[in-house]
Amino acid sequence: MAASDPVLTTVDEHLARILDRVYPLNPLDVQLLEAHGCVLAEDVAAATDLPAWDNSAMDGYAVLCADVAAASAASPVRLPVVGDIPAGSQVPHRMQPGQALRIMTGAPLPDGADAVVPVEWTDRGTRTVEIREAPELGQHVRRRGDDVRAGAPLLAAGTRLGPRHVALLAAVGRARVLVRPRPRVVVVSTGSELVEPGAAVGFGQVPDANGPGLTAAAREAGAVVYRVGIVPDEPRTLLDTIEDQLVRADAVITTGGVSAGAYDVVKEVLSSLGTVAFTSVAMQPGKPQGFGTIGPDATPIFTLPGNPVSAFVSFEVFVRPAIRRMLGLEPLHRRVVRARCTSPVPSRPGIRQYLRASLDLAGDEGPQVTPLVGQGSHMLASLARANGLLVLPEDVTQVAEGDQVDVVVLEERPA
Ligand code: AMP
Ligand code: MG
Repeated sequence: MAASDPVLTTVDEHLARILDRVYPLNPLDVQLLEAHGCVLAEDVAAATDLPAWDNSAMDGYAVLCADVAAASAASPVRLPVVGDIPAGSQVPHRMQPGQALRIMTGAPLPDGADAVVPVEWTDRGTRTVEIREAPELGQHVRRRGDDVRAGAPLLAAGTRLGPRHVALLAAVGRARVLVRPRPRVVVVSTGSELVEPGAAVGFGQVPDANGPGLTAAAREAGAVVYRVGIVPDEPRTLLDTIEDQLVRADAVITTGGVSAGAYDVVKEVLSSLGTVAFTSVAMQPGKPQGFGTIGPDATPIFTLPGNPVSAFVSFEVFVRPAIRRMLGLEPLHRRVVRARCTSPVPSRPGIRQYLRASLDLAGDEGPQVTPLVGQGSHMLASLARANGLLVLPEDVTQVAEGDQVDVVVLEERPA
């Protein structure tokens, strides 16, 4: 196939067409844990001081510094212990000069105290306590607002909420936050030869690898994924399934049935709707592609080829960036590194090839990449072994050993 072949669309054209028609989802108020991994759509300020009151940083004794200023191991100071303040104590305590209160980490500092003596500096007494070291003024006391001041800006809109942000939001009392929600993605496998993984596989049948694989991939990209059972190559069943699923879908992914075969039902059914364009993309694997919008909400639909590696590479190149756009996540694309190719590779002119590869980012002479054996588009074992996709651009006809090439980093770990 030559670059000039008029029926081929380039990878970049097809991707641009997709990204042109996919938008960040409207912000939604969601529960804090649901917001994990999503992009914040509001500026968050603290409603209150944090800590909200002065409290103890240690298990020990609340004291007045002046009372124990002379304490040392050689001449300890003894004070009466007039009470106990556990964490969670909700009654305000007060003490007089010359007294001590036993206090636990996080418990409110009593009025009249100005330091905490850690239990390790004492005889741990409960009626009286012997103090062997003098604290400084305010020592082991966490002051109200020393972490966060009421009204202070905490997190800016656009922040992707990781565990650290979730903890902060919880600490300032936010049970819900406004984020761009996770897109709900429906995954449909088509093919009359498909059976559920784990079911008996008869002659001519294969387990559905794409359904589970793409469900996992879309989930990892940040979507909430609904995997719909296998749909046989019957136009009516497929149409009904897609129509049923549209109510809960922000995007639909199908696999199979988009090539030039007699039972390529996805193409047959969706072509008649007139809103999905089927395209031959100048790439390998993954040449037959379809994309469009369907239903009352113009839901994006990606019709990926059936060969499992083609489906996976298509997802990586076209669907993952679209899911990230819906989430409001930047960058849209995975990291691409330049790496030294350890073997010569022939490259087909006019198309962009993605080779499953083993990428070593920690090589002495910089990143190194080796294409894996088994590049057929049905070969999943090499896909599972790969941690990178070596990109052979359209204009390259040959890579020599030692040449620098682009590699999409699928995983940072060694393959
Ligand atoms: P198709 O795109 O429907 O012509 O399918 C191309 C090849 O991919 C055929 O060998 C199919 O059996 C295989 N295939 C299609 N869908 C799946 C799937 N979900 N899981 C595993 N193999 C599949
Ligand atoms: Mg098929």
